[in-house]
Amino acid sequence: MEALLQVKNLKQYFHVENVFLSQKNSYVKAVDDVSFDIYKGETLGLVGESGCGKSTTGKMLVNLLKPTSGEVIFQGQDICNLKGSKKRSLSKEIQIIFQDPYASLNPRMTIGDIIAEPMKINNICLKGEIEKNVLRLLDCVGLSSYHRNRFPHEFSGGQRQRVGIARALAVNPSLIICDEPVSALDVSIQAQVLNLLKDLQKEFDLTYLFIAHGLNVVKHISDRVGVMYLGKLVELADDKNLYSDPKHPYTQALLSAIPVPDPKKKKNRIILKGDVPSPLNPPKGCRFHTRCFKCMDICKEKEPLLKTLDNSHQVACHLY
Ligand code: SF4
Repeated sequence: MEALLQVKNLKQYFHVENVFLSQKNSYVKAVDDVSFDIYKGETLGLVGESGCGKSTTGKMLVNLLKPTSGEVIFQGQDICNLKGSKKRSLSKEIQIIFQDPYASLNPRMTIGDIIAEPMKINNICLKGEIEKNVLRLLDCVGLSSYHRNRFPHEFSGGQRQRVGIARALAVNPSLIICDEPVSALDVSIQAQVLNLLKDLQKEFDLTYLFIAHGLNVVKHISDRVGVMYLGKLVELADDKNLYSDPKHPYTQALLSAIPVPDPKKKKNRIILKGDVPSPLNPPKGCRFHTRCFKCMDICKEKEPLLKTLDNSHQVACHLY
């Protein structure tokens, strides 16, 4: 499989001054040494609790945040330090769909203008073709031509997210970072948007990084799934392996939390004790050891590295 994008040892540390009246400067280690590849044409799901660093990772991939260190290699070049026209041409290749569809649309612009704007900025087509392309994109995302003169506040949450998708498609990207695109939507609308994203992936030959906080949402759309905990990637596997044979205790706990539709089928729920530790002061050794139900002595001392097991299943845990 050809890697479209490679993430190598990516770190994002946020500087915090004078924590709790201490004179020492501290760092929130939002993303700490994360590496993975995204293959052409696939959907890689990235899952974890709030604050685990998944959205920060996504923002670094679209150059909205400059990494503290590490590399993001796209089509053979490190994109972290691009400037000027090179940075602009990258924005045509990698687009993002945001979590909050309302906050991500300019309330003073019509839907037609919102979709046309990236085409104009990036000279995607001739001036006379912009209107035709806006109508085509509205049709692709399931909206009608008469919607183009309306404003974002006139739409439902699901429709606004469709506009966000059309805007991302306007520059013909090859990779789209979907940053929790269905978290703010009703469950029935979530399914519609997920199906739309799947259809568009085939039609436009797209690659997705799909960020979500639940494994149930990602299951529907992903070819491979990565699980993050407190800034670290703890497991990465193809969807069949991950859902049928999860290795990391944290992944096992997340999977046990997925509700089953049949109430007669009982599920052994794994309840994790305690809160997620602060990324300002992560625990020594394995970052999950304060909540892990399989914790051993070594886990409190030594940090587990991401190892590759059978079937390219990667896991960071001393049990393996
Ligand atoms: Fe649990 Fe230890 Fe594995 Fe961490 S390394 S997940 S604490 S068993």
